[in-house]
Amino acid sequence: MTIPTYDDVVAAAGRIAGHAHRTPVLTSRTANEELGAQLFFKAENLQRMGAFKFRGAFNALSRFDAAQRKAGVVAFSSGNHAQAIALSAKLMGIPATIIMPDDAPASKVAATRGYGGTVVTYNRYREDREAIGRRLAQEQGMTLIPPYDHADVIAGQGTAAKELFEEVGELDALFVCLGGGGLLSGSALATRALSPRCQLYGVEPEAGNDGQQSLRSGVIVHIETPKTIADGAQTQHLGTLTFPIIQRDVNDILTVSDAELVDAMRFFAARMKIVVEPTGCLGFAAARKMGDALRGKRVGVLISGGNVDLERFAALLA
Ligand SMILES: *Cc1c(COP(=O)(O)O)cnc(C)c1O
Repeated sequence: MTIPTYDDVVAAAGRIAGHAHRTPVLTSRTANEELGAQLFFKAENLQRMGAFKFRGAFNALSRFDAAQRKAGVVAFSSGNHAQAIALSAKLMGIPATIIMPDDAPASKVAATRGYGGTVVTYNRYREDREAIGRRLAQEQGMTLIPPYDHADVIAGQGTAAKELFEEVGELDALFVCLGGGGLLSGSALATRALSPRCQLYGVEPEAGNDGQQSLRSGVIVHIETPKTIADGAQTQHLGTLTFPIIQRDVNDILTVSDAELVDAMRFFAARMKIVVEPTGCLGFAAARKMGDALRGKRVGVLISGGNVDLERFAALLA
């Protein structure tokens, strides 16, 4: 698979138009005063199914031919990618099979089933989900769509930053949440096309800084599943498509602690009246941490998602 370009992001924007929400760009005087900067928050927590992942999933499924549509799609994920694939498949009348761990939260399994997906469970300690996915793909002719390392997924994720620049113009800095790098690499394609001088930062949880290590060492670094409240960024490594784009187009990768994520989550709820999941707080937490360097600047923050059980949300804020 070849590395996508900004033209692919533009094509993806055409495919998702009228299906994905064009999410609002929020502002906050309190945030502006705190940083002495002008902040623009792209609110993908208000995207369909609650996260930007709908963009990449819908774009990828839109490109299926008739045979692929008939045989269906398979994905492995316990989180937002599963729901994004299940919902996109339902909208297009494509059968979807989602491979989830047998100890996945009941709410996530229910949400995936609610979108019409068939859930196949596996034991996360004894079985290899990628092998199960490949077997289903081979035996039943299904197409496997991975959560980040896929050209159509990357191009779809890039449409959020594209919309942001189209709405607010060029920026001095943009902060993007980073797991496997689908969102960051897609955002990088849009940034270099629409705001070439913008400083682009990926932000990871401190406990899982494989992306930062990879950028600094020049090779994809693999780590154990990190222990962090940012469950959408518990990836073990960047992708073979996302890494070269990040290497070429991203200025730096920053990290924040779980405590800083909770502070940002509290700010979003108290000041901006929005529910943001821990992973979605990475960008803003890093912008706050950077502090003075952003004074007088126009700063974009990508809020990636808002899917968090309310009990967990309350417990984290308590
Ligand atoms: C998947 C996800 C991320 C990380 O995205 P990648 O494309 O894997 O880097 C960040 N935030 C949320 C809410 C997610 O669901």
